[in-house]
Amino acid sequence: MNKLLQIQDLDKSFAGVHAINHLSFDIYEGEILALIGPNGCGKSTCVNLISGVYIQDSGKIVFDNEHELYRQKIQERARMGVGRTFQSPKPFTNLTVRDSVLTIALLYNKTWKKAEEKTDEMLEFLDLASYAQILSGKLPIEKRKWLDMARVMVTDPKLLMLDECLAGLAPSEMDNSLSIVKRINQRGITILFIEHVISAVMQLCDRIVVMNEGHLLTEGDPKTVMANPDVIRAYLGGDYGYA
Ligand code: ADP
Ligand code: MG
Repeated sequence: MNKLLQIQDLDKSFAGVHAINHLSFDIYEGEILALIGPNGCGKSTCVNLISGVYIQDSGKIVFDNEHELYRQKIQERARMGVGRTFQSPKPFTNLTVRDSVLTIALLYNKTWKKAEEKTDEMLEFLDLASYAQILSGKLPIEKRKWLDMARVMVTDPKLLMLDECLAGLAPSEMDNSLSIVKRINQRGITILFIEHVISAVMQLCDRIVVMNEGHLLTEGDPKTVMANPDVIRAYLGGDYGYA
């Protein structure tokens, strides 16, 4: 299997906080990989380093076998196919849902026509078509998440990183959300999925990487990883225990 992303011996500190500590793992093309670990263990920092929000202190990030990600801006990385959503989406509240997606699509597609086609297709795909003409700021929370997703999807990501995209959803919205993530993956998009709800992780993911205190605790297939005593200990067997 081809490695879409390789993280090698990555390090990042913030004023004395060693957020990422000699972290290494790979993401394979086509998979849904869950990145899990206790609060504050460095998951979001990892996504921020891959997407270019932060620059690593040392270590390597290699994308698609040829691009070493180091000082490229977020937009440059997005053009290569590195996409991500944010834990708290911030839509352009004064634009309609359609214009909010189209604004991004225009930056990443050669013609206006192509950008419009992609926008409309994505609004349809993410069940936002009936909201197209309302103001983004007026969308309910769940729909805001899909708007954020639509804005990444029109950039044609190869790797899509979802940082707690299910947080704040009602349990009744969970199944539909998981099925959307699955359908995105079925379009050939590799997914890095950060999530606290372990049942969602178990349903969705091909592999799990577990972080603890900035480094890799273990990785592997979901059943083996969740049966690992070190993983259970890292989560203190609390809410995260998987039966
Ligand atoms: P997680 O997403 O796993 O909950 P984070 O990556 O957000 O963890 O945080 C890892 C550690 O790095 C935490 O101790 C956090 O406080 C710290 N951290 C993250 N971003 C910053 C920042 N911009 N400035 C200072 N400390 C940060
Ligand atoms: Mg986080």
